[in-house]
Amino acid sequence: MAIQRTFSIIKPDATKRNLTGQIVAKFEEAGLRIVASKRIQLTLAQAQQFYGVHSERPFFDELCEFMISEPIVVQVLEGEDAIAKNREVMGATNPEDAAPGTIRKEFALSIGENSVHGSDAPETAAEEIAFFFSGLELVG
Ligand code: UDP
Repeated sequence: MAIQRTFSIIKPDATKRNLTGQIVAKFEEAGLRIVASKRIQLTLAQAQQFYGVHSERPFFDELCEFMISEPIVVQVLEGEDAIAKNREVMGATNPEDAAPGTIRKEFALSIGENSVHGSDAPETAAEEIAFFFSGLELVG
């Protein structure tokens, strides 16, 4: 499997509880390299655009309000099979189903406030990286 890049968000529940460093350590321990990173606060319009694919879901409004409630840390992670590796380190969407040692098992509060986002496929990774970063900000 080739070297890939994926997009990650450390979500408001985690930045609020000062867990950024512990989450980054999990990525690095898994062999993922941080090639871009910034702390930002989303507007409601930006959150709605980013999660547009979920706009018809019952949790959409709550999810967008949560995502703007505190700053987030957006990152690009690089490594062998980075998209799948990141999903593995994140754990299942619902922390109750997440495997031991995963970020969501250790840190998530609920299925909504679940500490991290990670791209699920090469196409979404490319779109999500471009949504938040310019090429100049990606330093491999
Ligand atoms: N989410 C939620 N309730 C649900 C399912 C999802 O609040 O029943 C939120 C949760 O924060 C999740 C995000 O919506 O991370 C996106 O959902 P998705 O199914 O894409 O999960 P992920 O790819 O983040 O594991």
